[in-house]
Amino acid sequence: MTHPATVYPIDADFAAQARVTREAYERLYAESVAQPDAFWGRIGQRLDWFKKPTKIKDVSYQLEDFHIRWYEDGELNASVNCLDRHLDQRGDKTALIFEHDDPSKPAEHITYRELHARVCKLANALRSLGVRKGDRVTIYLPMIPEAVVAMLACARVGAIHSVVFGGFAPQSIADRVADCTSKLIITSDEGLRGGKRIGLKANVDAALRMPGTNTVETVLVVRHTGAAVDMQMPRDRWYDAVVDSQPTQCEPERMNAEDPLFILYTSGSTGKPKGVLHTTGGYLTYASYTHEVVFDIREDDIYWCTADVGWVTGHSYIVYGPLANGSTAVVFEGVPNYPNVSRFWDVIDRHQVTVFYTAPTAIRALMRDGDEPVQRTSRKSLRLLGTVGEPINPEAWRWYYEVVGDSRCPIVDTWWQTETGGILITPLAGAIDLKPGSATKPFFGVQPALVDANGTLLDGEAEGNLVLLDSWPGQMRTVYGDHPRFIDTYFRTYPGMYFTGDGCRRDADGYYWITGRVDDVINVSGHRIGTAEVESALVSHPKVAEAAVVGFPHDIKGQGIYAYVTLIAGEAPSDALLKELVAHVRNEIGPIATPDHLQWAPGLPKTRSGKIMRRILRKIAENAPDQLGDTSTLADPSVVESLVNDRLGK
Ligand code: ATP
Ligand code: MG
Repeated sequence: MTHPATVYPIDADFAAQARVTREAYERLYAESVAQPDAFWGRIGQRLDWFKKPTKIKDVSYQLEDFHIRWYEDGELNASVNCLDRHLDQRGDKTALIFEHDDPSKPAEHITYRELHARVCKLANALRSLGVRKGDRVTIYLPMIPEAVVAMLACARVGAIHSVVFGGFAPQSIADRVADCTSKLIITSDEGLRGGKRIGLKANVDAALRMPGTNTVETVLVVRHTGAAVDMQMPRDRWYDAVVDSQPTQCEPERMNAEDPLFILYTSGSTGKPKGVLHTTGGYLTYASYTHEVVFDIREDDIYWCTADVGWVTGHSYIVYGPLANGSTAVVFEGVPNYPNVSRFWDVIDRHQVTVFYTAPTAIRALMRDGDEPVQRTSRKSLRLLGTVGEPINPEAWRWYYEVVGDSRCPIVDTWWQTETGGILITPLAGAIDLKPGSATKPFFGVQPALVDANGTLLDGEAEGNLVLLDSWPGQMRTVYGDHPRFIDTYFRTYPGMYFTGDGCRRDADGYYWITGRVDDVINVSGHRIGTAEVESALVSHPKVAEAAVVGFPHDIKGQGIYAYVTLIAGEAPSDALLKELVAHVRNEIGPIATPDHLQWAPGLPKTRSGKIMRRILRKIAENAPDQLGDTSTLADPSVVESLVNDRLGK
């Protein structure tokens, strides 16, 4: 880095009331690492257990004796922790605020008592349909309250849910249903996003005609838009017909802490999605504790995470974390640009949201439209902002901070993965100074380290591959049905460590900067260049909205730099601008980072969770469009086609 990072010191007002101060962070972090049993034993008590755990941590990353167990003799039920235990004190408190896709419809406020009743009814219905502890249930729903209800109802009867994002096509549903041999699917007639209808039931029908899906006995269909759909009897049942008449009480299943809670497939940025399996006790402890501490949650917060429940962020930070903590969470059906690009900010004003958590891809997209759509709203209720999903470019960070947060709200840039169950590297706003673009410091109990290609640990200021030296309660336990793949993917590369797959830099202050996926790091004449850094330099140019950078084989340098650039609304590509951008990168980082090729990109290929798929861009840059690999999680295949055509035209 040529530029010293700007530091945004801890906000004094925030620190004065924060759950964790700087002193507390240092003290608790030291304890969490030195005495994990004492630390996590205490934290585990935040949950309600049928049987309290006496064994806290039992982990070995050694391949001869590999195991990960937390709270292993404890017994609990996740839905009881998210619902029943709040009924005395918070029965009438709003658990969920449901904001429809259509802003003219009144929002729905669902209390803890109502949510409990709805979950119990569905849980009873599931049992009546033969669903038992350990069975797999696929949930393919829009962002509506039933998605939350369905997850918690599965947890109540001990069924393992697999939520499949409502934007996926039939083949992706079929792959995921077949992989975990689901017995039942919960879907709806249609979904609604940005005013467009999506035929969810029709997609399920198509998926169930595909091979490997005949384990599905029942499809429960929520009436959402009211559209007419084909019902194939006896397989298909209307949700209301089965659920409405059920009792509002349901005996929860006693689950061991290490019994599975859910399977969730990763987003597929690097290859074929993996069925990540999380268990009950450790996951719930970790989701709830990180939610409370990272977002500094108070009883009266209105908390909004814009993720979809189809992603792990939705699991941990819309459903399990917030509800275990008795918080009020917004569930949003829509998209950021419908009916206009002020939608996020309008929803914040409408519900007086205090804590807001979104993704860099959304921030960059909204930035393209300038400040006015933000500034016409108030946003006075906000006090803390968060991001997750990709490295956030410092330019986007500053816009989020200055324009969205009026330079008033700290930003927590949270690094984690589907595999990690919860946030691992993040600022705590009362304890850690912020640096735009850095996820900063490890959360309690998390021991990040950097290694070189040989697995040698790097000290001090360094750049290398990000590993974790020890376990935390929210860690995944296996790849569903493929334990060897779990070991091979995460524990064989660097023996005795969990390998994250991400590249990372640690600065002189011990701050962590994710530089991109290790597969994406570019080696130019022996210099390792992180894609995130070059992309951030491009995005810092006022005419650039978004950029993606990949390496390609280069005769002299080994690898060259190939940049794809999307301009902000109203700007047009030109040779002069191309030269200007190349010069801009040289200025910002240095000649070593000079892009060899720059291609204008009307759009970038992204996963359905909004992450840039650099592995596809790499193949386009290499001129090997016939080797794009698994493209099933691509949000918009036409983007790839257009980039391939432009590339071939050169
Ligand atoms: P797959 O594992 O299938 O390739 P994926 O890695 O995109 O997909 P996720 O688990 O959704 O699936 O994403 C985790 C990854 O997202 C991290 O490994 C990291 O690369 C990136 N990421 C998440 N949050 C941040 C962040 N705050 N800063 C930088 N990178 C982040
Ligand atoms: Mg990953």
